[in-house]
Amino acid sequence: MDLLEMSGIRKAFSGVTVLNGVDLHVARGEIHALLGENGAGKSTLMNILTGSYTADAGTVTFDGADITGASIKAVEKAGIAFVHQELNLFNDLLAYENIFLGQEETGPVFSLKKRSMIEKARELFERLGVDIDPTALVADLKQSQKQLLEISRALFFNAKLLILDEPSTALNTAEVEHLFQIVRSLRDQGTSFIFISHKMPEIFELCDTYTVLRNGTFVGEGKIADTTPREVTGMMVGAAISERGAW
Ligand code: ADP
Ligand code: MG
Ligand code: MG
Repeated sequence: MDLLEMSGIRKAFSGVTVLNGVDLHVARGEIHALLGENGAGKSTLMNILTGSYTADAGTVTFDGADITGASIKAVEKAGIAFVHQELNLFNDLLAYENIFLGQEETGPVFSLKKRSMIEKARELFERLGVDIDPTALVADLKQSQKQLLEISRALFFNAKLLILDEPSTALNTAEVEHLFQIVRSLRDQGTSFIFISHKMPEIFELCDTYTVLRNGTFVGEGKIADTTPREVTGMMVGAAISERGAW
């Protein structure tokens, strides 16, 4: 059984169908590309997965448990983290404070002294190969460091599946390389990723598997190694691409 199995997901807004029975399967230790043109339904599917929206039909199984219709908090607790394009960090807090935020209700770390929190954050960053001073003000971090801070935070909470929504948008080439290196290393340790991007070269460099949506419909899934950018783009937009010869 795959780590994540979404099956037959349907969603309509005010009677307009946006997801028309979509499947998404992600295995353990795999980077899975979720592909589709603007409006295909990627964000809606991820909002259903993370508990922001409720599906009209379909089931979601994660790590062997049925999480269909689970709340945002329950989904997080199950081990799914959404790293949004607009990051969820507090700019006026320090890096380590952002790591521990939200841990108060459940975590054993609540009782930790400030100094040991800083130490724990430092250990986490070192383990992940992330270059952040735990006592830096988040507002002073580069965009790439903020992204890595958010990923670190998710992993501190033992996330098993990270959703990265166009993570390279505000990064330069070296920062993208660094991010991908960390993602690959986490993948090799068993963490799974859903990677949303419009950049075919990135997808083919980083991802293991893919799912394509078109107009809210599941059009296919497979291994990146078994396909080409041209074929995938053809699935995203329909057959017309082959005549235009975009790739
Ligand atoms: P993608 O992320 O692939 O660009 P979205 O999931 O954002 O696609 O959008 C799919 C369709 O659903 C679009 O037509 C969008 O306008 C519509 N949609 C998304 N969220 C809502 C909402 N909250 N209310 C109404 N329509 C929505
Ligand atoms: Mg969009
Ligand atoms: Mg979107």
